[in-house]
Amino acid sequence: MQDILDRIERDIQPYFGMGEVANYIPELAKVNPKQFAMSVATIDGEVFSCGDHSKKFSIQSISKVFVLTMAMELLQDELWNRVGREPSGTAFNSLVQLETEQGIPRNPFINAGALVTTDAINQRFTDPYNEILNFVRGLCQNPEIKFDDEVAQSEFQNSERNTALAYFMKSFGNIHSDPIKLLDIYFHHCSIAMNTEDLAKSFLFLANAGVNPLNGEEVISKLKAKRVNSLMLTSGLYDNVGDFAYRVGLPAKSGVGGGIVGVLPGEFSVAVWSPELNLSGNSLIGTKALELFTSYTEKSIF
Ligand code: GLN
Repeated sequence: MQDILDRIERDIQPYFGMGEVANYIPELAKVNPKQFAMSVATIDGEVFSCGDHSKKFSIQSISKVFVLTMAMELLQDELWNRVGREPSGTAFNSLVQLETEQGIPRNPFINAGALVTTDAINQRFTDPYNEILNFVRGLCQNPEIKFDDEVAQSEFQNSERNTALAYFMKSFGNIHSDPIKLLDIYFHHCSIAMNTEDLAKSFLFLANAGVNPLNGEEVISKLKAKRVNSLMLTSGLYDNVGDFAYRVGLPAKSGVGGGIVGVLPGEFSVAVWSPELNLSGNSLIGTKALELFTSYTEKSIF
């Protein structure tokens, strides 16, 4: 495994300079684009890494998997009256379908959908910030995981589209919180800083039928773990999900910080980070690295 990761790190070098870092969030625009890290965590407790694997980065939309997992437990099947389960085929921050679809987002991984799951958490907890943070800390067994307040503030100052989404859905009755408070929570969970090792570990429960192998605790039922993985497979990479499935063959979730985490149920989770993005907002080198990974290891869900 270590040889394969080292080989991937060499093989991705020619791809630097082919994408662009996220520039609509000023703090993310400052990140050095020439960085790469990859970690594989197995359900038996082994971790393999290459590159800058201890460097923390902004997980952004990867946090949508954590809030979905929490919201599924809180709302159970009622959640699916408020958010759909179909790929959107549009950009992650698009407003276009919401008007005709009565304020019900296509899936929990576009921004509108994650605002709904975050709304569920805010409605239920008095301190939603710490509930989310503690949930993520528990998953990767790292009490040091924190928000990056500068990233959260930076996003708040450039939040017109997300603000529009929140108010628009509220007009349909699908958001119950104060939209500004909701956006603040959403930007904070998007700003969580993690390295590829933490991220790979935090997705192990999805590789292990809902049970976190790091402490033996059931995070969600086996059925719900299957469902989260299915949603990642169909909607985890926005309007790029078909090409990603074709090339990589793993359920996965990306973020505009340049991270992508994939899962092979029964075996491992794999996190990769490289800040330059393709046109859909997914890590360009991250996608390439995962494509090489499933090719070299011959391990994918297909
Ligand atoms: N916080 C980002 C946003 O709302 C998350 C988007 C992403 O990672 N795709 O735009």
